Amino acid sequence: MRPACRGATVRFMESHAPEEDDSEEADGLRKIIHVDMDAFFASVEQRDDPSLQGKPVAVGGSRARGVVAAASYEARTFGVRSAMPSVKALRLCPHLIFVPPRFEAYKTVSRQIRAIFADYTPLIEPLSLDEAYLDVTQDLKGIGSATHIAQLIRARIKAETGLTASAGVSYNKFIAKLASDQNKPDGLCVIRPGEGAQFVAGLPVRRFHGVGPRGAEKMAALGIETGADLRARDLPFLRQHFGAQADYLYRAARGIDLRRVRPNRPRKSIGGERTFERDISTGSALREALARIIDLVWHDIERLDAKGRTVTLKLRLSDFTLRTHARSLARAVAGREEFARLAEELLDSVLPLPQPVRLMGLTLSALEKKGEVAPVATVEGGGQLDLF
Ligand SMILES: [Mg+2]
Repeated sequence: MRPACRGATVRFMESHAPEEDDSEEADGLRKIIHVDMDAFFASVEQRDDPSLQGKPVAVGGSRARGVVAAASYEARTFGVRSAMPSVKALRLCPHLIFVPPRFEAYKTVSRQIRAIFADYTPLIEPLSLDEAYLDVTQDLKGIGSATHIAQLIRARIKAETGLTASAGVSYNKFIAKLASDQNKPDGLCVIRPGEGAQFVAGLPVRRFHGVGPRGAEKMAALGIETGADLRARDLPFLRQHFGAQADYLYRAARGIDLRRVRPNRPRKSIGGERTFERDISTGSALREALARIIDLVWHDIERLDAKGRTVTLKLRLSDFTLRTHARSLARAVAGREEFARLAEELLDSVLPLPQPVRLMGLTLSALEKKGEVAPVATVEGGGQLDLF
């Protein structure tokens, strides 16, 4: 397994997995708000073009290999979802209106909402342009009630951007994120300490942060559909089937989450991978699969406003041998076209392969550090939470 180019020690990280770090556990209950803009890209488009209001809108490309980056609520009623191939979306909703993404407009709104958050707490952990965790255990204005702060933030977002946001208020990140999704759009949901376990028990595990569609499938095969099902499994069972994620899942099923809100979470890479239903071997099939993965990964890169120097292609062959091939530039990859070209060149350099491919992954790493707010000293915990 020889890397194609220099600078190829690259760790592949699955995208959308929660980053666990036990050394950074929060001490005790916190006051956490998860704020999430509603149908973000699509809502910005509808705001800026009144002719789109009330219509099914998809942000993304309508071409054969396009992927829906975001869907308006009108489009969602037809079953259109983000990350769905555009061809499928059009089949579900033939009068779907495709709009090309305008990332500069989204980034502008993202900066506006982060400025609002910063008025209430320095402990802000963005998950993407439109989503963030806020630790308001000790808020800057001395308001004291996380619920009240969430209401103020939602009202200011509406007034200053013309867009709606939903918020979840709870005592940890895991529950707050589930809660923000509960009353969407334009909703608020508060889960108090003592209510978390029961709240989680009734939810489908596919809604848990970090589980993802593939994880949910795996759980379904094991008879785990809800939080209650997950809670019924013991830790050795979870370790056997879910490895490093077991502890997180074990706690999550009990409404416990020890992860601290981490401003400026250092992200090492952005990537995605796909396991094929049937192993594929022809160059054309592999190139087509790569094109789809390029779309998905580039979408995340845009969302996170990231720049990086190293592109890594990962291939797992039918005998489970793993091959990674990386290419590093002296500067950041310039844009989507260069990213796609580097990925395609990496694939071409390994063809023909000795065996069919069962999994393909693509990552951008050696990311540039962003000039964001410096990490803030830990807020002292303790005392009563006169929270909600
Ligand atoms: Mg959102």
